[in-house]
Amino acid sequence: MSIDVEDYFQVAAFAPYIDRERWNSMPCRVERNIDRILELLDRHQARATFFTLGWIAERYPAMIREIVARGHELASHGYSHARASEQTPAAFREDLSRAKALLEDTGGVAVRGYRAPSFSIGAANLWAHDVIAETGHAYSSSVYPIAHDHYGMPQAPRFAWRAPSGVVEIPPSSLRLLGRNLPASGGGYFRLLPYPVSRWGIRRINERDGEPCIFYFHPWEIDPEQPRIRQANAKARFRHYVNLERTAGRLDRLLRDFRWGRVDEVFATRLERAASTTDHVQ
Ligand SMILES: [Zn+2]
Repeated sequence: MSIDVEDYFQVAAFAPYIDRERWNSMPCRVERNIDRILELLDRHQARATFFTLGWIAERYPAMIREIVARGHELASHGYSHARASEQTPAAFREDLSRAKALLEDTGGVAVRGYRAPSFSIGAANLWAHDVIAETGHAYSSSVYPIAHDHYGMPQAPRFAWRAPSGVVEIPPSSLRLLGRNLPASGGGYFRLLPYPVSRWGIRRINERDGEPCIFYFHPWEIDPEQPRIRQANAKARFRHYVNLERTAGRLDRLLRDFRWGRVDEVFATRLERAASTTDHVQ
């Protein structure tokens, strides 16, 4: 189970309407939403990985320490929420190093995982895995093996694979149906489709593929009261606001219907094996 820790005004779809300079003056919702998520996870005795923005850690250190204190994994979502595909290798390295140092100082734990904003690692920028390794991360969860208008690499493996740099890529889950990979890991689809469809997909991945599901959501997805970004176009608004009022209830069912854990624990064997492999050939 994974949570991408960012606020409602930082999502990529709203970037054209909200300048980064305005982030500091936007009413923040992330703390109260994370509180609710921590309670929800506790209620089901579930652990999760929190891919957290450095920008957020800088402003809410107590929240970061609470996430760690409750037994969850603290991981990185980069500092500034810039897409990996829109950065030079040097800028990307700087963003990752800054976030990792901030998160580790604040949380007092080692950060091993990284998730690129909007799953923005694909065929055109696989060099990003080298930088993820060089900045001291053991795994990435950033290459979505589907076709989507904003991201995705449909030909990428559906399950954990080792990049030449040694980093293990643990992709968000997809379903193989009629010769295509379909998203089955949360996000907008979890809000849009009826819950039994999501449950069916996750069961199929567990049973047919014999693999754990990588599910993700955002704190703002359980917050129907969040301020509306009215300037955004209709498609972005639909994707962001559809069924927000249903998500908390659905997550409750999801946590009841399956057993969930931290990415570093669920994939512990896989990560150990990758770390002990010295040859850099896949
Ligand atoms: Zn994000």
